[in-house]
Amino acid sequence: MKALTYIRQGEFALIEKPKPEIQSPRDAIVRVTLSSICTSDLHIKHGSVPRAVPGITVGHEMVGVVESVGSQVTAVVPGDRVTVNVETFCGDCFFCRHGYVNNCTDPNGGWALGCRIDGGQTEFVRVPYADQGLNKIPQGVTDEQALFVGDILATGFWAARISEISPEDTVLILGAGPTGICTLLCVLLKNPRKVIVCEKDPARIAFVREHYPQVLVCEPGECEAFVRSHSDHGGADVVLEVAGGSDTFTLAWQCARPNAIVTVVALYDEPQTLPLPQMYGKNLTFKTGGVDGCDCAEILRLIQLGKLDTTPLITHRFPLKDIQRAYDVFENRKDGVIKIAITPD
Ligand SMILES: [Zn+2]
Ligand SMILES: [Zn+2]
Repeated sequence: MKALTYIRQGEFALIEKPKPEIQSPRDAIVRVTLSSICTSDLHIKHGSVPRAVPGITVGHEMVGVVESVGSQVTAVVPGDRVTVNVETFCGDCFFCRHGYVNNCTDPNGGWALGCRIDGGQTEFVRVPYADQGLNKIPQGVTDEQALFVGDILATGFWAARISEISPEDTVLILGAGPTGICTLLCVLLKNPRKVIVCEKDPARIAFVREHYPQVLVCEPGECEAFVRSHSDHGGADVVLEVAGGSDTFTLAWQCARPNAIVTVVALYDEPQTLPLPQMYGKNLTFKTGGVDGCDCAEILRLIQLGKLDTTPLITHRFPLKDIQRAYDVFENRKDGVIKIAITPD
């Protein structure tokens, strides 16, 4: 089978590999029917993920059909259509039992697929702890509708869940990239009084305006004043920082009202400053990532009910054989790209 492989820093190549096999009784083999490219894949390509192992197949956003299962797998059977979770977690340790699956203590726990073990930009993938890592796609939900459930949509859902949003709130979301938009969709499910999205890229601003006209949009330079003029208590009640820019963490807490919750979803390239003397008395609550991706069944149910729809994010489609061209479009943000769906040949 063809697999997009991390060769060395700066180089991915589509090479021929043997089909994966069950290694543990808790594994499943999934035939990939659709995959996508994530910014984290670019981080691996650029060598900024030190734990990424050269030689692995990249890709951690995918859906498919269960091909075979190990003897201890009970949640899925061959033939089931499934979403694959970006996170590997055992389901048994202290953190898993509390829903903190991002901190699973299993040696294989955390982001393994497409980083430390073979991922999904290929035709078949081995998924460890299949009972945890796979969720059945409900009847009537398409592969494109389910494509982001295991990664960016799980992230948006988790971010909205931990942010304690109430119907009286003004919610500010910094960043309208793919994860920012998934976060926006999950925030909208909480029905806050106002939602403001701050974004600098004109194409992304236009995307938000076109698809989510009920949302207020501003740019970073005007953000603080804009938020203040659209909130009753001197700032946003809840801020979700999904931008990860050089000054967006500062913007996040500055736009928050006293006693607000600031949820940091973004992954920064550099350390950020928490200027405690300046924010003394503001009594903020900070919550930080990464995603505890254990709500996928609930997310799939919401998609089935028509309450969540991420299909507008899929702006481009490529066959696996042209995946290098897809990377060029995605990496260089050509042609208004947001997300790309890759179909095995
Ligand atoms: Zn990702
Ligand atoms: Zn665990």
